[in-house]
Amino acid sequence: MSPRTIAVSREIPVRNQTDVLVVGAGPAGFGAAVAAARAGARVTLVEQGMMLGGMWTLGLLSPFFDNADKEGLNRELRAALQERKAWGGLWDISFDPNEMAFLLDEIAVAAKIDLLFGTMATEPILDNGTVRGVVIENKSGAQAILASVVIDCTGDGDIAARSGAPFELGRPGDNVFQPMTMMFRIGGVKEEYPRDDIILWYKELVKRVPEEQVLEQVPFNYPAIIKLPRPGEALIQWTHIRRCLSTDGDALTAAILEGRRQVKNALKLFEEIRDVLGDVHLLALPSVIGVRESRRITGEYHISDEDVKQGLTVKDGICRVRFGVDIHEPDSKKQTCWAHPGFDIPLRSLVPLKVENLMTAGRCISGSYAAHAAYRVTGNCLAMGEAAGRTAAEAAATGKSVRELARAGAVTRQE
Ligand SMILES: Cc1cc2nc3c(=O)[nH]c(=O)nc-3n(C[C@H](O)[C@H](O)[C@H](O)COP(=O)(O)OP(=O)(O)OC[C@H]3O[C@@H](n4cnc5c(N)ncnc54)[C@H](O)[C@@H]3O)c2cc1C
Repeated sequence: MSPRTIAVSREIPVRNQTDVLVVGAGPAGFGAAVAAARAGARVTLVEQGMMLGGMWTLGLLSPFFDNADKEGLNRELRAALQERKAWGGLWDISFDPNEMAFLLDEIAVAAKIDLLFGTMATEPILDNGTVRGVVIENKSGAQAILASVVIDCTGDGDIAARSGAPFELGRPGDNVFQPMTMMFRIGGVKEEYPRDDIILWYKELVKRVPEEQVLEQVPFNYPAIIKLPRPGEALIQWTHIRRCLSTDGDALTAAILEGRRQVKNALKLFEEIRDVLGDVHLLALPSVIGVRESRRITGEYHISDEDVKQGLTVKDGICRVRFGVDIHEPDSKKQTCWAHPGFDIPLRSLVPLKVENLMTAGRCISGSYAAHAAYRVTGNCLAMGEAAGRTAAEAAATGKSVRELARAGAVTRQE
């Protein structure tokens, strides 16, 4: 019988020692690394993929929600993309993902961030509940990076969870979480197709093919076409892969295969509505599947349902979440949406309980199932990253802990 576990012990080289180590370069990780570097910290940014931007680039998503009213990098990216004619499309808040990737590279290089692509952070280096760095694996093999502060921007909270920080998963009661979606990019969309009507094509499709047959091919009945700035190009958000957990390597692999199978089915169904959509073709598959939710790391502050409904305002508010609660139901083809008055993300919700020298930013911060379904959009994740980056840089420079700084409410608010 093969053994269930084996012990592995090895010595690995230390690649470098830095002030701030950011793991994951999605909207949150990019924001954290740039803000920390601009605040004067030495920053290493580790990313398993080959591009900065996470879901913006690897995942092929648009529009840029909760960007419009924010300052900082939200404004900077919007302005730069507008200048490059790579901004517009659906609701006038979508962007070209390739141009986004070029832009993020330029900003990160100008900020002198030490970048490592194709690199997975596998485990924290812990000293009595204090994170001292992480172990990474890439083509060089296993190495250690030591840091004064680590910011976990992996989306899944990999480093925080492996450090022993408590976390929640899914909805209260049964812990079931929202489905994944594999996005894809198409060309050949008719000029006349209305820019801001995300679902007209689907309504036409189900007039021609019985809806139950359509849903057997792609099991979600509120899909979206997201027109991009370049004429004829669009992203499609349609596939739904349920009950596959992104933190389980085997489940993630199964979800990716199922996502691509559904993309193929979708392309076949588009042939039925050529007169509505155009003679469309596949331009690009994403490099990562879209994960709406996994671990929510419990922090110094937990954003509750009541906070969302009452419009929480706090002194350590990073930014205001305006995007409504948007839940793709875990077990059905339904989407549940509700509005709220707007609420703050407290800096304290980025500081995990039980572990020192560690912050989170992005979709893995501390909040309820419903709160997460609003704050997870990318304008908020970018602003959270910036707040985490500035706080970490200050901690590294002053020797104060990130917990102390967060409790003191040291944050520059972005509307
Ligand atoms: C299908 C879908 C559609 C969406 N639509 C929109 C939309 O239209 N507009 C909007 O604003 N938001 C949208 N969202 C929400 C938004 O995309 C995410 O909530 C947001 O990207 C989260 O940002 P993040 O930086 O926390 O994580 P991510 O964008 O997921 O970035 C995490 C990064 O960390 C890297 N990483 C992960 N683990 C490791 C590791 N161990 N080591 C090294 N690197 C690692 C990943 O490769 C990735 O680059 C959508 C989400 C999904 C899934």
